[in-house]
This record gives sequence, C-alpha cells and structure tokens, in this order.
Amino acid sequence: MKLAIFGTGYVGLVSGACLAEVGHDVLCMDVDQAKIDQLRAGTIPIWEPGLQPIVERNLAEGRLRFTTDAAEAVRHAEVQFIAVGTPPDEDGSADLQYVLAVAEEIARHMPGYRVIVNKSTVPVGTAGKVQERIAQVLAERGETVAFDVVSNPEFLKEGAAVADFLKPDRILVGTRSARAQERMREIYEPFNRNHERTLFTDVRSAELTKYAANAMLATRISLMNELANLAERLDADIEEVRKGIGADPRIGYHFIYPGCGYGGSCFPKDVRALGRIAEQVGYDAPLLRAVEAVNERQKNTLFAKLADHFGGAGGLAGRTIAVWGLAFKPNTDDLREAPSRSLIEALWQHGARVQAYDPVAMDEMRRLYGPRADLALASNKYSVLEGADALAICTEWQQFRAPDFDEMASLLQAKVIADGRNLYPPDRLRAAGWHYYGIGRPERP
Ligand code: NAD
Repeated sequence: MKLAIFGTGYVGLVSGACLAEVGHDVLCMDVDQAKIDQLRAGTIPIWEPGLQPIVERNLAEGRLRFTTDAAEAVRHAEVQFIAVGTPPDEDGSADLQYVLAVAEEIARHMPGYRVIVNKSTVPVGTAGKVQERIAQVLAERGETVAFDVVSNPEFLKEGAAVADFLKPDRILVGTRSARAQERMREIYEPFNRNHERTLFTDVRSAELTKYAANAMLATRISLMNELANLAERLDADIEEVRKGIGADPRIGYHFIYPGCGYGGSCFPKDVRALGRIAEQVGYDAPLLRAVEAVNERQKNTLFAKLADHFGGAGGLAGRTIAVWGLAFKPNTDDLREAPSRSLIEALWQHGARVQAYDPVAMDEMRRLYGPRADLALASNKYSVLEGADALAICTEWQQFRAPDFDEMASLLQAKVIADGRNLYPPDRLRAAGWHYYGIGRPERP
C-alpha cells in the first residue's frame, strides 16, 4: 500500500522504515530540510538499534523515500500518518500546533478520500479538532472531499523501537468508520500473522489509552522511588523488597526498578499533559500530581547523596564528579528530561566540574550544552574517572554492569560511587573499601 508519514523523528522514521520493510510504499515528509537531506543520503539522525540497515535497504529498494514537499506526500497515498511532535505548552498541555499544521497541509492538497491517522500522542478530542480544521480548509477550498480521522497511538520504546514496531504488543486503532478500519487492517496485516494484535476501538478511548499507559508506567516508577526513599530511612533494602513484590503475578517484575527518576520525551510530558486534561474537565487528579512531584524530587537524589558525602552542597565546590550515562535510558541518545541533566546542572550550580561519558549520547550532550570549562567529555568509561572525586551513575548501560573496580579505584581520587541505578552489590563494594550510595539501600558500612 502507498503510505505518507508526516514527521521523521523517533516515531515517524521508525514507523516509516518498518512499514516499508514489510512491503508498503512509504513517502516520509518533514519540514526540516537538513534532516531530509541526511535521510536521503542514508544517514540516520538518531541512534536507534537496528534502524540503519532497515532504512538503507528500503531506500535502496525504493520503498522508502523522503520529501519536504507536503503536496507530494498528500498526493502519494490515501493514508496519511501524522507523527510530529506534541511538546508541552507553557502550562504542560500538549501543544497541538504541529499536528494541526499537518492537518491543514493535508486538507489543502487532498485530491480525494484520505484517512488521516494520528500517531502523535494527543489529548482526548484532538481527532475532533483535526476533523474540524480539515473541514474548515475544505470549505475555504469550496470543495467536498470525504475523509476519516483515525487515532493510532504509538507504543514503541526508544532503544527498542524497531523491535517494538515489528512485533508490537498491540496495535490500537480508534475509529468507527468501516472504510478507515479496512485500510488500517490492510496496513497492519503483516504484523498480525502470528496472532491478531490489532484492537479496534473508538477514537477518544484510543487517545486516552496512550496517556493511560504512560501514566501507569510512570506511577509504578514513582511508587518504587517513594518506597526506596522510605526503605533508606528504615534500614531496609528496596532491592530485596522489589524481588519480594515482583514475585506476585498481580505486580510482576517489570517496571518496578527504583532509580534516579524517569526522563525522556514521553513520561514527563504525558503525565503533565494528562494532569492538564483532568483540570480542563474539572477533575482533581492528585495521584498524577504526586507521580510528577515524586519524580522531580527523585531527580535530585544523586546530587543530595554526593552533597552529603562531601559535607553539604558547599563541599562540592571545586570538586570533579565523573558521570557514567547521560541518556535517559540505555540504547538511546535521547537526553530529553534525562536525570543526568538535573544532576549535572545542580553540580555546576554548586561549583563542581563534570567529566562525563555515555556510549552514544555524547554528540547530543555537546549539541545541548556546547563547550564549557566545567564539562569534559571522555572517550571511554575508564578515562572519564581520571582525577575525579566521585563517580555518579545515571544510566544502566550494559557496559557499566561488571566494570573492573580495581582499575576504577586506581583512576579516581577517592573510592566513591553514587549509583542511580543500583547496579552493584553494596556489601561487596563496601568490603572493598568503597563509599557506595545506592537508591533505597541501607547505608550501613
Ligand atoms: P521528534 O521531535 O523526534 O520528531 C518530530 C518531527 O516532526 C521532527 O523531525 C520535526 O521536524 C517534524 N515536524 C514538525 N512539524 C512538521 C510538519 N508540519 N510537517 C512535517 N514534519 C514536521 O518527535 P517523536 O519523539 O518522534 O514524537 C512524535 C510524537 O509521537 C509525539 O507526540 C510523541 O509524544 C509521540 N511518541 C513518541 C515516542 C518516543 O519514544 N519518542 C513514543 C510514542 C509516541
């Protein structure tokens, strides 16, 4: 089938490449000329495992193409995906300007029936707004053209986006139009061979489901962080507690890791946006506020532990802190709302220098902060330790799980680790003379 996709970010590019991979003829449109030039040359602007070969293969075979010409994209296909950003507004609500701009483009150029599929994460009622905007533009054109607006939220995870898209847990399609359902069924047929994964529902429920999923996952993390902070004060070990509760199938082991807070482009903004959605319908949602507040506090936890170690925040002035992991989670270069940034910015504010290393997010770090005297980016996980007064771990990259502690000790000024991901057994490290601070773990020697 011919498909057009607006937006070539994490969602648009991965969706476009994977839909081409199963045989569809995909034209991706983006307003960012530089990005489109890069993509045409086969250069991927993001780091996402498995994406490069799929893009290369489908470009070479002509099933995946890129353009900045909206009219061409609208003419190309009956089905038009919207996968542009929905960043937070000043008040935390999702900013729909990019989604509505695409809706206008589609309406301006559509020559006949179109299915407009919204993949961006948007508040309940957005499909209605898209519908209105398209109808308005069509009225200005003085033409009647049939169309359907479908909600098809995307559940892929950065770092495993290709695998998630090719083998989704579910494909959610919100529309009651039989004509649109038929098109959606055809598009996703190749992903349903093993078993049916597509769930058809109404448009508003589909829109809410995406926020509900992210709010549920963020709530699990914030609850675990709340319990971890409590465990620390009760001289209990949250890692023991985690295993004890995870064994209950009603709870399960997934997504109950305590840490230094969640980040990324989705959980923080979606929890906030759902809070604003609740306000708009006059519903008080204290749990959503708490999930966010606990996370904000948790993002400060590594800084607080380091400050304590050095006798208070003032003790950090002039110190050098090494940081392992910048990305908000492993296998991505995404630094949006990453806990590492809260830590690093707090360290700078208190006069500390930072030496940082991340396997893939260094370019993004350079792009965000530029050259600074109080930031050094090292080429590997050991060289970053040289001369530092302590190590802070922000991301649980595999390569940090079993390091050579003797080598680390020889490079650091002092054997101090603030571990935001609970990677190591505290007893073993303390027996080897380390000052080891985990999350929610007893701090006895
Ligand atoms: P992104 O910021 O990586 O990419 C958005 C792209 O849209 C950019 O390349 C931008 O240039 C382009 N764009 C903006 N206006 C445009 C226009 N008028 N026409 C064409 N292109 C335009 O965003 P993302 O991370 O891919 O997220 C997109 C949406 O998907 C958001 O609503 C997000 O919440 C949701 N989502 C993201 C993820 C994720 O893991 N990143 C997962 C699920 C859902």
